[in-house]
This record gives sequence, structure tokens and C-alpha cells, in this order.
Amino acid sequence: MELTVLGKSPAIPDAGGAQSGYLLSEHGYGLLLDCGGGVFAKLRALRDPAQVDAVLISHLHADHVLDLLPFGFALAQGLAGLRGRRPPLWVPPGGAAVLDRFTQTLGMGRQITAAFAVTEYDPALPLRLGPLTVSFCEVPHYVRTWACDLRSAEGTRLTFGADCGPSDAIAEFARATDLLMLEATEGPGPHRGAGFRGHLTAAEAGELARLACARRLLLTHYSDTAARQQLQAAAEAGFGGPVELAAEGCSYVVSGRRERSAISSA
Ligand SMILES: [Zn+2]
Ligand SMILES: [Zn+2]
Repeated sequence: MELTVLGKSPAIPDAGGAQSGYLLSEHGYGLLLDCGGGVFAKLRALRDPAQVDAVLISHLHADHVLDLLPFGFALAQGLAGLRGRRPPLWVPPGGAAVLDRFTQTLGMGRQITAAFAVTEYDPALPLRLGPLTVSFCEVPHYVRTWACDLRSAEGTRLTFGADCGPSDAIAEFARATDLLMLEATEGPGPHRGAGFRGHLTAAEAGELARLACARRLLLTHYSDTAARQQLQAAAEAGFGGPVELAAEGCSYVVSGRRERSAISSA
């Protein structure tokens, strides 16, 4: 399984960056996970958009869906390789009406829901997408949001926490995953203030990954205004081991336990 980070920025994009968007490739199948502002341009720069077999949306915040609009235009216009294509777009419950209101308010008809084959997933049920099985876990955020666990046929797992505040449920959901990708929107930490939490610090992301016994932690959705060294140090202190920071344009190979033991015994 290979993960390519198209965009890792939070709501304020990094200089030259893009908001949430990740391309997951498994045996030639391409899944675009979230499609925030700037992601479609990054997809065109790094990959062929025709490699996207389906799109999956974690929640309906703008920084996770904005570029469904230009992607929809490219599909409608038959941009090179996209002619005649209408890829599946899996959205949270109620998502189709939200996207229609968004495009209609902007005078763009049903630009997204006409260009994609839109289906609302049932978070209570596993979802089969090509060679991947997706399961969902609702996480604390400012709108209803689902973390996703993506499992290959061989059992290799990538767990994406989406946007989430501190939650024991995510640690349980991600238990023993091969790669846990968690946000660090609040910077290194510690968090100050009270009230409902919808985001994590890097320190909290590290602690959650340790609780989950995740094999690897990839920190994402952090701002370029935060010092990378501080983010990494805070996350590693919480995790108790090395932590990677997602970088746009970089790819990460996710291997499972069986593949690892095959490699180490080869
Ligand atoms: Zn976000
Ligand atoms: Zn959000």
C-alpha cells in the first residue's frame, strides 16, 4: 500500500501548499482520501487524475472538499484521460445535499454531484473499495466526522484520524495499525484553555498513537507556521519512538506485519 500526500495543510494553506488530500494506491487501485483546496492541482502535478478510481470524504469541512469542484469540472469537460468517467464519490451521511447546496449557491448547478457517482456511506458498515476494506469511527470535531481504517486484502492497515480532538475511541479503533495518520492542527502543545476540543496537538497525537500501539505515526494537517522540530519532538515524546511528518509530494510505503517479516527473513 502506498500513500502519497497531495495536501497536508490545515484550513490556512501552507505557502505553495494544499489542504487535506491523500492518494492511496493498492495493486493499481487509486483512492483519493479527502479533496481540499489545492489538491486537484497537486494531483495533476504529481499523478494522472485518471488514476483516481474513487474518492472518499472524511467530513464536510471546506478544507476537505473544496477541490471536488475543479475535479468535477475536469470530469465534466473530459480533461485528458477523464473523458466519459464518473468515479464514485463516497461522502458522509447527508453529504450529497450539502454539496448540492454549496454548488447551487455559487451558481454552479450540481457540478459535483453530477460529475461524480455520489453515495453516502453508512459508517456502521464496512465499505469495500476495490482491494480495500474501509471501516469508520466517529471522532470529536466541529461537524460530524469519521476516521477511516483502510485494510488491504493482505491485512495491511492505514488508519486516518481525519480532523479530531482527543478521543479514546480513536486509540481503540486504530489498535495495532501499521500506519496511523493523525492531525496536529494545534501545533506542538500543550493545549491551553477549556471547552470542547476538535483538534489535536502533536503531543496528544503522539500519546494517542502510543495508546493505540500503532507501528508508525505520520503527523499531518499541521501548519507551516509551526516549527517542524518542535512538532516532531512533541509527538515523539508522546509516542515514545520516531515520528514522521507528512510532506506534500512525498510517498510512504505502508507494509504489514507479514510483509515485514518476509522482508527481514529474505
Ligand atoms: Zn481540516
Ligand atoms: Zn474539519
